[in-house]
Amino acid sequence: MRRRFANRAALEAWQERRVRRFLKRIRPLSSYTDERFEGRSVDRWRELEPIEKVAMMANFDRLNTVGVTKQKAFEVALEAERSRDFSPSLGPITVGLSSGTSGNRGLFLVAPREQDIWVGSFLAKVLPRSILSRARIALFLRANSNLYEATGRGRLTFDFYDLISPIPAHVARLNAAPPDILIAPPSLLRCLAAELSAGRLKICPERLVSAAEVLDPVDEGIIAEAFGQAIHQAYQCTEGFLGMSCAEGTLHLNEDGVIIEKEYIDERREKFVPIVTDFSRTSQPIIRYRLNDILTEAKTPCPCGSLFTSIASIEGRCDDLFEMPTYDGDVRPVFPDFIRRAVIASTDTITDYQVVQRGPSELTLALRCRPGAVTEVEFCAAVERLQTLFAELGCRAPTIRRSEDLHRAGLTKLRRVERRFDTPPEG
Ligand SMILES: [Zn+2]
Repeated sequence: MRRRFANRAALEAWQERRVRRFLKRIRPLSSYTDERFEGRSVDRWRELEPIEKVAMMANFDRLNTVGVTKQKAFEVALEAERSRDFSPSLGPITVGLSSGTSGNRGLFLVAPREQDIWVGSFLAKVLPRSILSRARIALFLRANSNLYEATGRGRLTFDFYDLISPIPAHVARLNAAPPDILIAPPSLLRCLAAELSAGRLKICPERLVSAAEVLDPVDEGIIAEAFGQAIHQAYQCTEGFLGMSCAEGTLHLNEDGVIIEKEYIDERREKFVPIVTDFSRTSQPIIRYRLNDILTEAKTPCPCGSLFTSIASIEGRCDDLFEMPTYDGDVRPVFPDFIRRAVIASTDTITDYQVVQRGPSELTLALRCRPGAVTEVEFCAAVERLQTLFAELGCRAPTIRRSEDLHRAGLTKLRRVERRFDTPPEG
């Protein structure tokens, strides 16, 4: 599974060969993909206009190569969600439904062979090299993410935990069947960290993997402290398995399975929106597909020597970019990472926070600090940091209201920095 490349150029040449071969095969099978080429040869695939979820969904029936209609796939996926069945399928094809607001949910199809490739590459990157014999893997999932399901393979046992279940139920089950590897969203790992510190949870997994949500430094610190180990990070979504942290703790893009082009969105060319081309996924081709994510590139090469792009952080969704009015009547985007760092830097006792932009000039801030701290003081310090940041960026000072509304682990994803207008902005 692991491939070696002499240098970055050799890796890119290999990727290019793979993607062209893939496109030659897929183009006659997917009429929508063929249309996107507008008569160009496959060698010019980088000239295709990137598509997003909306276009993918609008052209679902003609994009997929396995003859599944959107209507049928939705019926199957929604029924599975109602019954909390983790394995909705249409014949051999697995159907996945991405999280999102109703009306903005993505459907994903995965064929058995693609599932095998996916699980194989996931395990190769997630399993510590020390695990050669048997391992029990606990996976916390939202419904309809059964990509791992097929792998009750000999030495590996997978236990699936439904995120909708209450924490005490998770604790009892984990204690009864302690995992070697624990894979969960950070919001859930936070709950388990609290249970561990309280003495109710008694497990010591060999590896912790954070997945499905942005790993915030606040959460990372508290989870690592409770479990007494570093957290690994998987960048994995319905669109594919896109990245995994190495032994040094750096997140690397999985460039042996996908090509990720960078659409830079800042002047310093460090932050980008990934445009994914997956050269192994045939049932639902992902070709120049723009994700709704903001990634920050690492400035220095990783000591592990990997040729794969190093990522300093997954910042969050493009939708969560704050849009702040400036003094000269413009609107300036403010990156989630800037907001995050301003709040975290205001005091070292923060254990929980959430900043939400609710209107053009209106923010709410919810904050929790370590017991004993005077949260009013902490709150004002955080507000001051945020206002300093906005002033530095030339933005008008927004109203920052206090909120008690903090995220609870469960089915909704934790987003510590979020844009959620109560009423749509004018224009
Ligand atoms: Zn590395």
